[in-house]
Amino acid sequence: MELVKQRILQDGQVKEGGVLKGDSFLNHQMDVAFLEEIGREFRRRFAGCQVDRILTIEASGIAVGSVVALEFACPLVFAKKSKTKNIAGDVYKTQVASFTHGTTYDVMVSKRFLTPEDRVLIVDDFLAVGNALRGLIDLVRQSGATLVGCGTVIEKGYQHGGDQLRAEGVRVESLAIVESMDHTTGQICFRD
Ligand code: 5GP
Repeated sequence: MELVKQRILQDGQVKEGGVLKGDSFLNHQMDVAFLEEIGREFRRRFAGCQVDRILTIEASGIAVGSVVALEFACPLVFAKKSKTKNIAGDVYKTQVASFTHGTTYDVMVSKRFLTPEDRVLIVDDFLAVGNALRGLIDLVRQSGATLVGCGTVIEKGYQHGGDQLRAEGVRVESLAIVESMDHTTGQICFRD
């Protein structure tokens, strides 16, 4: 999506270690009008698919999830990162290794909010090696719900998480795919 590519070029910051910051428009300060366009684009890409639940992961997926849920007129559910080992109650839980923080954490969703009848679209802000999406896919599978696909705003193609998921048959739609970045020059190249 040209709008996302232009915004990355204008406001994205390339950091060492393959990290791209989008915190002035996407996941800290948020440009809500920009997010609204993102919601519309995912609605267009998944047109014709029945979607009755959007699933994301806290915290940075929630804003994107909200605009997508608005477009599909369905609830947004976010997987919670759990600090305690003993999660009480009826929850689906899984583990996610964090690319940005170098740690592994438990995430969980209440069984009340993912059911076998649901058709779920997973969304997130960034896709890198794919651990966050894999954790969310695991929660969907545990619940018996149907996975419609995954949508991410920015995929870092050079970390191959998206291509691995596609090769496994998961529909992954990313609005901009970064093929390479150079933190010394700030240069960013996109796929296509
Ligand atoms: P993955 O699990 O695919 O390796 O990484 C995706 C998750 O890590 C996303 O939820 C996102 O919040 C975070 N993440 C991965 N790479 C980046 C990045 O370059 N910039 C930012 N801001 N977040 C990232």
